[in-house]
Amino acid sequence: MSDEIERNKKQAVIRGFMLKCPSCGVGKTLHKYLKVKDNCDHCGIDLHHASVDDGPAYFTLMVVVGLILPFLPIIYANYDPNPLLVAFALMGAATVLALWLLPRTKELLSNLVFEYCWSCGDLVGVCGFDSVFERDACDDFCEVVKAA
Ligand SMILES: [Zn+2]
Repeated sequence: MSDEIERNKKQAVIRGFMLKCPSCGVGKTLHKYLKVKDNCDHCGIDLHHASVDDGPAYFTLMVVVGLILPFLPIIYANYDPNPLLVAFALMGAATVLALWLLPRTKELLSNLVFEYCWSCGDLVGVCGFDSVFERDACDDFCEVVKAA
């Protein structure tokens, strides 16, 4: 894997976590909390190809549980709190963390989908091939499209 692929993925992840456009890094791509806009406000790139389905929910769940769950043994080893109080406190913390993290996870995954294709320069979702694993297929596809 070359440095360019790594740089693009790092850039996509950072821009996604900052809720920014995968192309220009300036425009916001979400509206109504989790709805992806059709086009970027700044550069106008098509964004409606992003389909991350339930991925953001699963990743958010894993992160929230991974961050909240370790507090249980720490709390009960050091204190003797009311279990109901602990349950409500951790549920509240998990809810706030999930609501904050979910749009960032969705944008992060959407930006990875929008990583530019290596061969043709189109968006991966546009040319239909994964840029890393199906590079040769994309080369063939692009040659066919350019020849037509
Ligand atoms: Zn943009």
